[in-house]
Amino acid sequence: MFEEQEYKCPICGKLTDKQVSHFPFCSARCRTIDLGNWASEAYVAHSPITEADELLDALRKQSRDE
Ligand SMILES: [Zn+2]
Repeated sequence: MFEEQEYKCPICGKLTDKQVSHFPFCSARCRTIDLGNWASEAYVAHSPITEADELLDALRKQSRDE
């Protein structure tokens, strides 16, 4: 019964749901982290430190929103 529709957040592994607006992530924070991971890879040749700072800022804002 429980095996039928189980989705796990690819970032933190928490169970999530198709009805979650951030699906397939469990929360806006995990979605931001995933975007950050992608951005870090894309921009790693340019300025990873600046990128990391921006990501941290975004994460702080997301945390407050929740
Ligand atoms: Zn998550």
